[in-house]
Amino acid sequence: MTKRALITGGAGFLGSHLCEKLLAADCEVVCMDNLLTGNIENVAHLFGEKGFKFVRQDVTEYIHVPGPLDYILHFASPASPIDYLELPIQTLKVGSLGTHKALGLAKEKGARFLLASTSEVYGDPLVHPQSEDYWGNVNPVGPRGVYDEAKRFAEAMTMAYQRYHGVETRIVRIFNTYGPRMRLEDGRVLPAFMGQALRGEPLTVFGDGSQTRSFCFVDDLVDGIHRLLLSDENEPTNIGNPGEFTILQFAERVRELCGSRSEIIFKDLPVDDPKVRRPNIDKAKRVLGWEPKVDLDAGLARTLPYFQARV
Ligand code: UDP
Repeated sequence: MTKRALITGGAGFLGSHLCEKLLAADCEVVCMDNLLTGNIENVAHLFGEKGFKFVRQDVTEYIHVPGPLDYILHFASPASPIDYLELPIQTLKVGSLGTHKALGLAKEKGARFLLASTSEVYGDPLVHPQSEDYWGNVNPVGPRGVYDEAKRFAEAMTMAYQRYHGVETRIVRIFNTYGPRMRLEDGRVLPAFMGQALRGEPLTVFGDGSQTRSFCFVDDLVDGIHRLLLSDENEPTNIGNPGEFTILQFAERVRELCGSRSEIIFKDLPVDDPKVRRPNIDKAKRVLGWEPKVDLDAGLARTLPYFQARV
């Protein structure tokens, strides 16, 4: 029987790729978004597709979706540091009230619920690489606290609905992901560097560039999330690419790929910027049979045309 899914934040970067993934798997998709940081253009090409429906709505208010639902994927949230610094209250609300509403709907519909959580739950980690049993090192009152604590609350709420209401739940902890449909101006490191390199402007490395991140291409991430959704795993699961780079190395890679002669300049490191980040993906390998397939150079090459068309 055809399944039916609700994707909150469905017009965002990850949400829109998930809409495509589920439609391709013969699932009907209700894409819900208030277009605060999402963009209707990300899903415009899906409007003619059978089984696709778009609803403009804020998930922090009461949500009503007519008809049955088998899956609810809760991806609504500002997700870049610049976005959640500019939208701190909305970020807290969508992680808390929005997660509560989406879980209530899952309970009502008997749907399986998947929460988009984040490596930010590990904060500025004291354990490296990060595996799911690490509880994190988060500053609740710093500028990133609005995102980190909202997602930690969302995880707690999700586990409570699983334990006390018997809702089937999945939690994915998403590490840095990149690919087409990231917003050029969202301030994240990849759009920032690609935009700068393509315009011939200096690449702005924050701090001394020795902090590390591990970058996953969006197709790999979406495949991992789809597998998790279909699995029986109801504890948090890391999905990300364990290839780890310093931000300075990353700037050099992006500059080279763009064939740019931009210089690299150094700016102040944002408050509480994690010094290291790399997922331990042993669990995803073991439980989901998943590991990323696209390496950084290949993924950057597949991302470049999208930004070239927009700069
Ligand atoms: N960063 C940078 N220059 C930029 C934007 C980001 O050096 O123009 C750094 C940022 O300080 C962080 C890393 O790149 O160390 C990744 O930043 P991003 O905002 O993409 O996400 P985060 O991993 O911090 O959530």
